[in-house]
Amino acid sequence: MGSNTFVTVKTANGIEYQQPTGLFINNEFVPSISGKKFAVENPSNEDHIVDVYEAEEADVDVAVDAAEKVFDSWANEQPKKRGLLLSRLADKIEEHADVLAAIESTDNGKTLNMAKGDVGLVVDVFRFYAGWADKIYGDVIETDPDHFSYTRREPLGVVGQIIPWNFPLLLASWKLGPALATGNTVVLKSAESTPLSALYLANLVKEVGFPPGVVNIISGFGKTGAYIASHMRIKKVAFTGSTATGRFVMKAAATSNLKKVTLELGGKSPHIIFEDADLETAVEAVRVGIFFNSGEVCCAGSRIYVHESVYDDVVKLFKAKAEQSAPGDPFEKTSWYGPQTSRIQLDRILQYIEEGKKEGAKLLTGGKRIDRKGYYIEPTIFTDVNENMKIVKEEIFGPVVTLTKFKTVDEVLQMAHDTQYGLAAGIHTQNLSKALHVANSLHAGTVWINTFNDFHAQVPFGGYNQSGTGKEMGKEGLDAYTQVKAVRIGGITKH
Ligand code: ADP
Repeated sequence: MGSNTFVTVKTANGIEYQQPTGLFINNEFVPSISGKKFAVENPSNEDHIVDVYEAEEADVDVAVDAAEKVFDSWANEQPKKRGLLLSRLADKIEEHADVLAAIESTDNGKTLNMAKGDVGLVVDVFRFYAGWADKIYGDVIETDPDHFSYTRREPLGVVGQIIPWNFPLLLASWKLGPALATGNTVVLKSAESTPLSALYLANLVKEVGFPPGVVNIISGFGKTGAYIASHMRIKKVAFTGSTATGRFVMKAAATSNLKKVTLELGGKSPHIIFEDADLETAVEAVRVGIFFNSGEVCCAGSRIYVHESVYDDVVKLFKAKAEQSAPGDPFEKTSWYGPQTSRIQLDRILQYIEEGKKEGAKLLTGGKRIDRKGYYIEPTIFTDVNENMKIVKEEIFGPVVTLTKFKTVDEVLQMAHDTQYGLAAGIHTQNLSKALHVANSLHAGTVWINTFNDFHAQVPFGGYNQSGTGKEMGKEGLDAYTQVKAVRIGGITKH
């Protein structure tokens, strides 16, 4: 069944594999009801990779039916069985790491090294949540001798998950892991520009033996995401993407069935270098903070603040490092990062660079599209900026960063907080007391000290303010996928 929905693809590093192109519903890859497909492009050379089937509203309904049908048996499955399946999935992903990384590099454009890093964290995330499956506890609450009160943490039902294109496989794991460990069933929609790795993952889900309907993975556009967000039988939606789209998701949830919502949205994260920092380490972190994954990172350290006493040194070091961080083909070892994931992104970023120049910022290095096929942009640094410039205020989502001087801790905190966002922040200092004071003061869901973009499956991630609501990874990642039932038994009498 469904063999017509597989296409042979060969990646640039010579891996030949069968790419599923159908919608994964009830453990089968099926064509969409309309039969419509859309094209998937390789951003490193603008070549067409493959066409995949496009899910629309009727397809979502079929996926929800499948997920709803199996929900009771999955929710009541022995927790250790759910854990075992997640653990087997982690093993299977590890076994297929090379092909998954090659798919991600081909589809998203990230370098193979970065893609391998993503796959490693995906394995960790599934293993971490596999371990949680049989450790979901309620409480016994002692109130008085006449009663017995306890709580249960129960799954929600069918949950919808909407994934962006910058970390297609990784962000799918952040959502699937906790949802499945706690007994929910899932309809997951990948992003239209990067649907391939999630479909390959679906094949592995089937192979390790998840029951049909527990995991459904569909490809489609924003309107299909909007339908998921407003679906009356979906009990929760988890969304990662832009703040603008997150607002629509929350509104759709509110005006449909008030489904629970978690949002992981945009950012404009401050990255602060104090005068006593180890400058080599700090500048390397700053480079990773902005050029990692072509700057397509919601928590990218896109506003760099440097103490005036080391500002000139940092400018010199960082300029040199940026100029050694050239982007290139994702499969070339020498490429520091790959292309932007789509032409739309490329155009958006170039527009911001033009705005920056017009607003009077000084271009220290970079600023241009690279003259070749594919969506490559030079590592770009602006100095002489002020807090009101667009390039300091708005999320650019590319390899573009601003450098600003500061004098005092209070001044830099004030600048750091001058944003609608609150996803992450970075600090570099050797002074423990200062590090803790600043970390405690920053309005951000994650603070990195003497490191940046440093994720771990055990450590929760999620934003303050308009960077979102709810956490993913860590034990906190489970919270959004369970609801607490309180049970109170009365009439206990003395015997
Ligand atoms: P971008 O605009 O940079 O592509 P989005 O935040 O719009 O980023 O996209 C992230 C994900 O959200 C994608 O899977 C996309 O299809 C989906 N999406 C887009 N618009 C909507 C919407 N109105 N409701 C729900 N999901 C949407």
